[in-house]
Amino acid sequence: MSVFDLEGRPDGAEAPLRDPFTRWTNCCGTWENARSRWTGSFSRLSAGLGAKAPHLPIHSASPSGSRGASVGASAIHRNVTVRRLALDFCQALRCQRFLTAWLGRPYRLSQRYIEIDLTYRCNLRCRNCNRSCTQAPIRMDLPLTRIEAFIRQSTAEGRPWERIRLLGGEPTLHPEFAEAVALLRGYRSHANHGLRIVVCTNGSGARVRRRLDRLPRDIEVKNTRKGPRQRLFRPFNLAPMDRALYRWSDFSSGCRILADCGIGLTPLGYYPCAVAGAIDRIFGFGRGRSQLPAPGETMREDLALFCRRCGHFGFSWPTHRACLSPTWRAAYQCYENGLPSRPSSPKPESDAGR
Ligand code: SF4
Ligand code: SF4
Repeated sequence: MSVFDLEGRPDGAEAPLRDPFTRWTNCCGTWENARSRWTGSFSRLSAGLGAKAPHLPIHSASPSGSRGASVGASAIHRNVTVRRLALDFCQALRCQRFLTAWLGRPYRLSQRYIEIDLTYRCNLRCRNCNRSCTQAPIRMDLPLTRIEAFIRQSTAEGRPWERIRLLGGEPTLHPEFAEAVALLRGYRSHANHGLRIVVCTNGSGARVRRRLDRLPRDIEVKNTRKGPRQRLFRPFNLAPMDRALYRWSDFSSGCRILADCGIGLTPLGYYPCAVAGAIDRIFGFGRGRSQLPAPGETMREDLALFCRRCGHFGFSWPTHRACLSPTWRAAYQCYENGLPSRPSSPKPESDAGR
């Protein structure tokens, strides 16, 4: 089976770490390829067959019964929709340099939401995974000490978090998943009573479902219910910097994910969004911070660095195919060879008040 086939293993085991380059298809191919891809994507969307992007809001917890067993029982929330594509298109226009110079940047770092990437382990191998779990698989986990440090800082500074999402990878595959959830529940009961804690899962495999079943009822579950069929994804590995369309873009603007999903805490540290941490894992800039960014920080340098490489910036047609632009192709090859794809940039400094 190809590395790009979805593999819902019965026991929920992690997918093996295999060569991710076996069947890469470059989306910057011929016009004919592009035309058929676009036409096909548009037809599917017009027919209301849009499917979910990786690990974005999916479903609420089942009101009764076990949540692992209830996987598949509730309505599927679709993330790739005509409305969202329209928003992405507006976003691409709004982030043009002349508009950001005139009207200001449209997105700010969230002070309400944070996403915690518990692990980069995953039991599936989706094409265009925005954590590179397929393209560059690794068993890398967030230590519990980082969650404890996050709780200490949040409590000491009275951070008004409204929602914490646990993601990955597949977060339930973290070796200390239950302990991580318990830490966050303790934080909620002592310092932040209104906090929502949400586990975002692919819901695939018996092991994953068992862990979901054991979750306390006050933890929300958003389940993408992925299976053997490849979903429509945004082409995450099409770097905007490789495309003429983005020549005049202000990459430090970020995207809607800043506001909708929030700051990212990843195994490599804090980033403006969790996707940026996953990009840094491959490129090796070493920009992860050990402390939460202060309120008012913009992290513009980080955004300028990561958004130019991120397929979530601006607008792209969703696809079922694996897409890879030259910058990402080179980055994965360097990663495979154990080399950083870019020289390390200086450690970030506080930019409060900029
Ligand atoms: S992290 Fe999500 S998108 Fe990536 S391979 Fe796993 S299930 Fe698929
Ligand atoms: S790195 Fe990607 S997901 Fe994060 S703000 Fe930039 S474009 Fe959005």
